[in-house]
Order: sequence, then C-alpha cells, then structure tokens
Amino acid sequence: MNMDIAVIRGDGIGPEIVNEAIKVLDAVCEKYGHSINYEHILMGGCSIDATGEPLTDDAVKIAKSKDAVLLGSIGGNTQTSPWYKLPPNLRPEAGLLKIRKELGLFANLRPAYLYPELKDACPLKEEVASKGFDMMMMRELTGGLYFGERYTKEIDGVLTAVDTLTYSENEIRRIAIKGFDIAMKRRKKVTLVDKANVLDSSRLWRKVVDEVAKDYPEVEYGVMLVDNCAMQLVKDPAQFDVVLTENMFGDILSDEASMITGSIGMLPSASLNETKFGLYEPSGGSAPDIAGKNIANPLATILSAAMMLRYTFDLDKEADAIEKAVKTVLEEGYRTIDIAKPGEPQVKCDEMGSLVAQRV
Ligand code: NAD
Repeated sequence: MNMDIAVIRGDGIGPEIVNEAIKVLDAVCEKYGHSINYEHILMGGCSIDATGEPLTDDAVKIAKSKDAVLLGSIGGNTQTSPWYKLPPNLRPEAGLLKIRKELGLFANLRPAYLYPELKDACPLKEEVASKGFDMMMMRELTGGLYFGERYTKEIDGVLTAVDTLTYSENEIRRIAIKGFDIAMKRRKKVTLVDKANVLDSSRLWRKVVDEVAKDYPEVEYGVMLVDNCAMQLVKDPAQFDVVLTENMFGDILSDEASMITGSIGMLPSASLNETKFGLYEPSGGSAPDIAGKNIANPLATILSAAMMLRYTFDLDKEADAIEKAVKTVLEEGYRTIDIAKPGEPQVKCDEMGSLVAQRV
C-alpha cells in the first residue's frame, strides 16, 4: 500500500519522538512491502516563529489532502516562553484547535492498557492491577457542554451562569457507529456511559446507540451511569472494552483511565472524522523540561503510528507487529526515564525507537 501522510513534529520533545515513530513505520514498510510519503508541516510554536501563525491555511490544506496526520506535540513552557505573551488565538495551542476543527475530528480514541511489565506504576490495588486491563475510551469531541451556548447574567440582582448541553441524533449516531466498528476490531464489547437517569441528552444518546447496536449483533452492548463508571474504572477496569461517551464525561473519564495505567509516555491517541482520516498523537504534551535531551519516551508516539495503520489504513497485521514489538522491548527490560524504577538502567529516546524498529 502507498500511504500519504502529513507529519507535524511540533515543539519540545515533538521532533525527537516523531523521528522514532517514523523509524518504526519505515521498518514496517520494509517488512510488509508498503511505502509512506511523509510531508512535514509546521504547527505550534515552531510555526509561530516561522510564519507568525500557529497553523497556516496552507498547512491545513496540505493536511486535508492527506490520508492521515501524525503529530508529536506542540507548545512550550507556559510560564517562560514568549509564545504565551501572544493573544490566545496566536498561541501554539490555537493551532491544535484549528486543525481539529478544520478536519472535523469528532471522535477521540484513547486506549488505556496496562502493560504487565509496568504494573508497579499502576496506582490500583495489587489484586486489581494483576488482572490487567485493555480498554478504549471513545469520547465525542465536538459537541455537548463545551460547545453549547453559554452566558452569565444578573437575574433579580443575582449572578447566574448558564451552559447548555446539546446533541443531535446525527452527532450521536456517527460516533456510535465508529465505536461499534472499533469494537469489532477488538473484544466486541461496548459500554455506553451516560447520565440517563437525569439528562435528556443522555436519554437521546441511549435511544440512538440502542438503535445502532442492533446493526452489530456480535457486539455485547451495555449501558452504565457515569458516576458508577468512575467507580468501576478503579474497582474493576478489566470489565471494559470500548467505553463510548459524550464530551465532558469523556474528558474526565479518559484522564482517569490514563492515570490508572501509570505512565503518560505510553499513551497514544487518535481523533477521527467520518471518513478513515485521522490525527494520531501521543496523549502527553511537549515536555519542555526534558526537550532536546534525547530522553523522552517515544512509545506513545510509536503506538499512535500503530493506531494510524489500524484505523486509517486497516493494516491490522502491521499495527499488531508494532504493538507486539513494544511489548517485547518492555519484556526485555528496556526503560526510558519516565518508566524506569529507581536504580534501573535507562535507554535514550532514539535507542528505544531503534529497539522497537528492530523487533517489528
Ligand atoms: P506534558 O505532558 O508536556 O509534561 C508533563 C510531565 O510529563 C513532564 O514532567 C514531562 O517531562 C513528562 N512527559 C510528558 N511526555 C513524556 C514523554 N514522552 N516521555 C517522558 N516524559 C514525558 O505537560 P505540561 O508540562 O503540562 O505541558 C507542556 C506543554 O505541552 C504546554 O505548552 C502544553 O500546552 C503542551 N501540551 C500539548 C499537547 C499537545 O500537543 N497535544 C497536549 C498537552 C499539553
């Protein structure tokens, strides 16, 4: 297959971790007979320095013409970097919001997987952690409370704030279909998380997702109230496969799910639109505190590249090869600074990339 992707290395550790993901993708291409055309575009602080804008329209145009975007991370030290003296719409993060909006990325996927080798970093009780977990948090990204009408006004001399939570059945259906499609590639289980005992929007989610579920008879489908889900994630995370939920619940629950894996440097993510197009990036930021030292953990970015192969290009075997190579490297005891226990030897960012590439 010939793949055509845009690459945004970005700021801080971004270039270091993206280089390692490209190294691994090249190894996959060599082994399985594929090719990838990489076109680099600027976003974030590096784009501000070069063009005065965090993301130019030309860069968006290039991204839109590709099959997928692989992103490192953007931004700098928010206390000291001159980028944060600019108006908010010209700061690095404005580039991220612009690209998500321009590309219509409405479905955010964050896998939370506990590697047995990193079990000690899991903050849960031993009996829970030892069962392991492997879930996909699927969060609606462009609707709900964060995008509804909001205002604050004085009513009868009392300040009153209003935020509105709106969803149309179309917005729900398109992400529900994505959720069930993804479950079909995994353990075939979907849990819809909502607050249907209180919210009308949640009751609409249930109605629409119930309908979509009928088209996927192989998928085990259930519903759970969000307050219960927050508890179940720490009590019995092994029960979850795909967790499908709206924007605000997903914002909170996906951070909770990330936290119980114990390491930010291991967490990939994907944001998808209605087509196969996706933006793939590690969950962490640009880590300015360790940038330029060749010590960042590139595994989240490497695993994001695996998600790209799986979800944009349907190359499941190749994605499995990357994920298996990452597991092997961890089994062999290789650790970057963020996942090494005190006293354990550490490998550099580029060494970790090479180790994974060799094992693909
Ligand atoms: P951060 O995720 O960059 O760093 C938090 C901590 O985790 C730091 O100690 C860092 O060294 C460590 N860390 C993160 N990724 C790591 C990796 N791959 N390997 C080893 N250690 C890692 O969060 P922050 O410090 O709050 O933000 C720094 C900058 O990143 C800010 O400008 C912020 O706006 C930006 N940011 C960008 C994105 C993105 O590009 N999508 C996401 C979050 C934050």
